[in-house]
Amino acid sequence: MVTKDEINERLVRLYADIAAHGYTLCSGQHEKPCKLPHSCCDPGVCDLVIEQAKWDWDVEMPRTGHPKYPLMNPDGSCSAPPHMRPLCALHCCCIAAFGFHPTDHEWTERYFELRNEINNLEFEKRYGDDS
Ligand code: SF4
Ligand code: SF4
Repeated sequence: MVTKDEINERLVRLYADIAAHGYTLCSGQHEKPCKLPHSCCDPGVCDLVIEQAKWDWDVEMPRTGHPKYPLMNPDGSCSAPPHMRPLCALHCCCIAAFGFHPTDHEWTERYFELRNEINNLEFEKRYGDDS
């Protein structure tokens, strides 16, 4: 049986992988870079992340002092690691708008491969025998 610690280790890796996969679109490694970086951020989401980090990982996320976004660093990066901000790690504009990448089938396939694995592990973590 897979233990909760093992599930968490896998989730940490998978959230980092899916955030990096999404970032290839934002950063322009894949095509044109985002014209409005961080426009997907929302202070209410930062607040949710702070609550969820405590609930799910027993971690107190410190606020950065950013004037608008409680978890944003001065350079615009996020102070929360991807597994503590699942909403943000999974977010990609094309997925939110269309449910797929309009021109890159392989990118979409990889996105959902990672996302399905995450969904299965999140389910197992919450409702599996070890929970
Ligand atoms: S998710 Fe969308 S709005 Fe956010 S940085 Fe990436 S391309 Fe820009
Ligand atoms: S990526 Fe970070 S700064 Fe942006 S909404 Fe998510 S938690 Fe807040």
